[in-house]
Amino acid sequence: MSDVDSEDVAADDLNADGVASGPPLRVTDLRKTFGGVVAVDGVDFAIERGSITGLIGPNGAGKSTTFNLITGVHAPDSGQVFLEGEDITGLHPNQIANRGLVRTFQIARELSEMTVLENMLLAFEGQRGESLWRSVTPFVRDGVVKQERELLGRVWRTLELFEIDHLAHEQAGTLSGGQRKLLELSRALLTDPEILLLDEPMAGVNPSLENKLLDRIHELKAEGYTFLLVEHDMDVIMENCEHVIVMHQGAVLSEGTPAEIQADERVIEAYLGGDV
Ligand code: ADP
Ligand code: MG
Repeated sequence: MSDVDSEDVAADDLNADGVASGPPLRVTDLRKTFGGVVAVDGVDFAIERGSITGLIGPNGAGKSTTFNLITGVHAPDSGQVFLEGEDITGLHPNQIANRGLVRTFQIARELSEMTVLENMLLAFEGQRGESLWRSVTPFVRDGVVKQERELLGRVWRTLELFEIDHLAHEQAGTLSGGQRKLLELSRALLTDPEILLLDEPMAGVNPSLENKLLDRIHELKAEGYTFLLVEHDMDVIMENCEHVIVMHQGAVLSEGTPAEIQADERVIEAYLGGDV
């Protein structure tokens, strides 16, 4: 673990002007054990700016743990995470979100009784470590200063973008699985991240909402957002990712284009051998 200092910036990720020009996200030799279980065992990869990269592998391969190491949920036993060339290993998830890397989280049960709008406001607080919530309360009494009004505007625009603004005052628990996924992605976008990590965003989503979700992801990609996507649905991965990283038993087994991955004997074997 290390604090972020300019000397932690890897030289090969900087151009002549000292501006980050390499991959926006890079991990080197990440390791994490839980008790006796080696969950992540020396993972190296980099993802390309403005791409959708798929992270796949059989159950227990270490995908979610890798996400948790990248986003600061867990500290790695060893290895490093570089965001825009800067070492962010061991930073708090809020600090990492502030630097532009956000993952979607499933809506916790206790939040399902709150409205969609309240979930959005709380997400902002959670990600930024700031209280929009508190600043919105005086809205009713005293009016609201410009900055706060802008934040509220942003919440509404995001809900509109995902076509769930009409659900703003519904309890999150009453949404369909697909609408919930749209809310999860909306929440993640609130802080205007540059990199989004999506852990099974299509789980429980019906085909029409799945297409809507994928359309939004491609639109965001066209705007320059970078995605790292864990998804079980192989068709979704193969049709939407330009690059695929395959994990197996805590390590990267293979990476390449969807076509390369589909033709890779080691990948086929890993999937046949594991319980997928
Ligand atoms: P995947 O997301 O690819 O299915 P995970 O990262 O969830 O894989 O899990 C990798 C391995 O680490 C599994 O053997 C899992 O049981 C173990 N593991 C993951 N998280 C924990 C934890 N918090 N405590 C103990 N073991 C864990
Ligand atoms: Mg997982």
